[in-house]
Amino acid sequence: MRITALAGGIGGSRFIRGLRAQLTTTHPDGSGGTTAEVTVIGNTGDDIWVHGLRVCPDLDTVMYTLGGGISTERGWGREGETFTAKAELAGYGVEPTWFGLGDKDIATHLVRTASLAAGYSLTEVTAALCARWQPGVTLLPMSDDRAETHVVVDDPSGARDDSGRPMQIAIHFQEWWIKYRAALPAHSFAIIGIDTAKPAPGVIEAIENADLIIFPPSNPVVSIGTILAVPGIAAAIRSATGPVVGVSPIVGGAPVRGMADSCLQAIGVETSAAAVAAHYGARADGGLLDVWLVDEQDADVVETVRALGISCRAIPLMMTDVAATALMAAECLHSVNS
Ligand code: GDP
Ligand code: CA
Repeated sequence: MRITALAGGIGGSRFIRGLRAQLTTTHPDGSGGTTAEVTVIGNTGDDIWVHGLRVCPDLDTVMYTLGGGISTERGWGREGETFTAKAELAGYGVEPTWFGLGDKDIATHLVRTASLAAGYSLTEVTAALCARWQPGVTLLPMSDDRAETHVVVDDPSGARDDSGRPMQIAIHFQEWWIKYRAALPAHSFAIIGIDTAKPAPGVIEAIENADLIIFPPSNPVVSIGTILAVPGIAAAIRSATGPVVGVSPIVGGAPVRGMADSCLQAIGVETSAAAVAAHYGARADGGLLDVWLVDEQDADVVETVRALGISCRAIPLMMTDVAATALMAAECLHSVNS
């Protein structure tokens, strides 16, 4: 079986770790095997150049989480991390000072930046980094081209135009998310370069050849939404032969973690499991989903989602540990040939 999942950072990688556990069989002699090939299409809209280094936060979160190197406490970056270089950079007074650049993590960014400078594509560099981490999946960036999310906000300096209206500026997604904790109201998102970005090699094939396509509980706007915005990806999902199953990141009217509500508000979508399903739409109706899994807490929206033409079930969706997450993945697997 071939499974293709789209993924942001924390929500996506934790789900895929559970999926991988669900797919792994251990034989009586202790040897192991997997019953499926998994391809993960990672969001690169969060990518940022920091102090001359190319940082790919979502790809690295997937790679470190599946490779056993993630900080379990923070959910991003490396376990046992130190921040000496960050403090030294701040000592020079150079911006950005708000970006969490750990010393171990910097090694990854150095390898990536040097390899890109030598002419390798992000797809090739990601494969090379994964040779160390052995994530057990094929990790592909959504695109090798720059497609970077920016957020249109009122200028935080308070600047106004000639008619006294607040000036609007676009800031990098990471500045909005980390420095401002998504508290500056977003007017819109602009993905710089998206119009001419091409899906990375293997992305469209992974969608077309999948027996199952999964939208893990990643941010619907700035993770899954960005991947879907790469020209050709959404169309490939609409016409794919495998079923498309989505897992709600919204439970009980709020994101389980993070600030997806601020993102949904900016695109005019209510923060609810049903509204996110409606936003993706039913494949039968030109949209993207065949099946939508909501949390038990949201059992009351199941009928609403079904009325959209999307099959829907309410199950526990809290990724408290790998075993609980594996059960969520098992529910997704039930959608193949059912
Ligand atoms: P990011 O790139 O690190 O922000 O991560 P993602 O976009 O992959 O995932 C973020 C989303 O994961 C958030 O909107 C959360 O609501 C969702 N999330 C985090 N933990 C859980 C969980 O245990 N269950 C569910 N259903 N969603 C979760
Ligand atoms: Ca992200």
